[in-house]
Amino acid sequence: YQAKSGGVSVAAYDTASDAASTDQLALLAELREALQSDDQLVLVLQPAVDLVTGAPTGVEALIRWRHPRRGWLGPADFIRPVENSEQLGAFTRYVLDKALAVAADWAREGLDVPISVNLSARSLLDPRLPAEIAEALRRHQVPADRLVLEITETVVMSDLEVIDQVLTTLRSMGVQLAVDDFGTGFSSLAFLTRVTVDELKVDRSFVLQMADSPQAAAIVRSTVGLAHQLGLRVVAEGVETAAQRSALAELGCTAAQGYHFFKPMPADKIAAVLGSLRDSAPTNVLPLRADG
Ligand code: C2E
Ligand code: MG
Ligand code: MG
Ligand code: MG
Repeated sequence: YQAKSGGVSVAAYDTASDAASTDQLALLAELREALQSDDQLVLVLQPAVDLVTGAPTGVEALIRWRHPRRGWLGPADFIRPVENSEQLGAFTRYVLDKALAVAADWAREGLDVPISVNLSARSLLDPRLPAEIAEALRRHQVPADRLVLEITETVVMSDLEVIDQVLTTLRSMGVQLAVDDFGTGFSSLAFLTRVTVDELKVDRSFVLQMADSPQAAAIVRSTVGLAHQLGLRVVAEGVETAAQRSALAELGCTAAQGYHFFKPMPADKIAAVLGSLRDSAPTNVLPLRADG
């Protein structure tokens, strides 16, 4: 059939990928609405815990879309098209704003736990990002070091100079950086020589295979060793069983995140969970505030 586009007749290919891209355009138009509404895009929160003390080491914010017609969507359903659209900037600001609002809420309750936000690699190509983040931190009165930005190693693939500049500026502001899905990207080790980071997150795939694959176990062990040598924190992702938990502890991993501890939860549950984790953690965890 013939599709009209901007007055020019275009022969359309009646293929699945064509249908998919039409659907992506619809989705992006709907995202524009969602970014304007206040109740469609929501963050769920997943604590990471110290494997020795059980205390919360941080909380990761994960986006969900409560779509008025399509139902609940996860990041896999919409992140890619958003990344490749002009709405990425608005989306990134939205997520940061929501995350910092949540962090400000629990800080008011005396809970001093950093919040981790996932950044699309492409948003690091925008030189305005550090100033926008500084403004959001000020507005929510969250100290910069309470924000951890999780980056995946695909960033190494594109415009290195801008990305390094953006990350270096963010870090000089006091914002923390984590390498997400460590070991799965390209040139991950080279990345560590270019940008100073604070945390490595061991990808879930290695945790999952650790018990059956000596290779996966060696990768986990090496990542933990690398983190220690570089003075970085290391957090294992996707821990689902007690066996994985103890294997990680034996490998020297000090923090972990996963369904074994907590599934991602709504924002209104998080303060209570952090509070009870803090109160039940042993005394080698310092009080979070002298006056608290
Ligand atoms: P990620 O940053 O590696 O996040 C971890 C993913 O693993 C999350 O999936 C989380 O729900 C899931 N997970 C946590 N514990 C377990 C477990 O024990 N078992 C299993 N099977 N899964 C577990 P989710 O929320 O679907 O997010 C997928 C990816 O989408 C994230 O991977 C992150 O890269 C991206 N993402 C999530 N939120 C955002 C966002 O706000 N902005 C951007 N740019 N990307 C996001
Ligand atoms: Mg992440
Ligand atoms: Mg990850
Ligand atoms: Mg992962």
